[in-house]
Amino acid sequence: MLRILINALRTGVVTTRYPAEPNSPPERFRGQPIFRPGTGLPPPEVCPTGAISEHPDAGGSHLAVDLARCVFCGRCAEDQWSGAVATGREFELAARSRADLRIEVVDDDAAVHAKPASDPEAEAARALSEIRRVLGRSLHLRHLDAGSCNACDWELTALLNPVYDIRRLGIDFVASPRHADGVVITGPVTRNLATAVRRTIEAVPEPRIVIAVGACATGGIFGEGYANLGGADQIHPVDVYIPGCPPRPEAIIFGILVALGRLESRKTSTSIV
Ligand code: SF4
Repeated sequence: MLRILINALRTGVVTTRYPAEPNSPPERFRGQPIFRPGTGLPPPEVCPTGAISEHPDAGGSHLAVDLARCVFCGRCAEDQWSGAVATGREFELAARSRADLRIEVVDDDAAVHAKPASDPEAEAARALSEIRRVLGRSLHLRHLDAGSCNACDWELTALLNPVYDIRRLGIDFVASPRHADGVVITGPVTRNLATAVRRTIEAVPEPRIVIAVGACATGGIFGEGYANLGGADQIHPVDVYIPGCPPRPEAIIFGILVALGRLESRKTSTSIV
């Protein structure tokens, strides 16, 4: 016992202060690719996940990047395109709408996020205000693995360790959907699990929040196929999409807090020039 106490004193506090203080990812961390419009942009074919697409416009054509599909592999920023694309370190990418994860690479000193036809922001704001009224600053979540490779699941597990300690923010995971205020979904939602996912979400009392974690659950990597539905929003409306493959723990914390309305989803306009 004495040895444990001495070790604890020697180690000191390891818990991150994020989001109260900014977090600095490790040196080799790869975040959102930063595109610089102009010459030398990589062709869409360079992206192994189809995250980059080309679209005609008045000036010819421009590229768009779908962060839901991006796995932050860094291939589009390799040597031959390093002048046009840089590997960014941004991880606070969660968005309340799938459409907000799409970035138009345009040459007007701003990233243009595609605007959805409806106004999901207003609807989300109304839902969030109701959720905050009911939940206050406490949130209990049920994690649903809907066919993931377990990478996102490991990052979710890390939220409970002493480094991230998400309970310090009033957030915890529970075993039963009946005890939960919302669900966190990982994986592309396989057809075999679809009914279980739907019933579990419906077992969470209203108002509930649904958070899609990772490139699979956001509907980026896997489309609809014989084995997959192609994302959590094929089962139930999603309140917050957290891109990444997998998203790092702070990115998940950011997304959960966005869902609770404590933080605003930060637009990435400063990351594209
Ligand atoms: S970093 Fe993203 S956009 Fe670039 S090649 Fe990899 S998956 Fe595609």
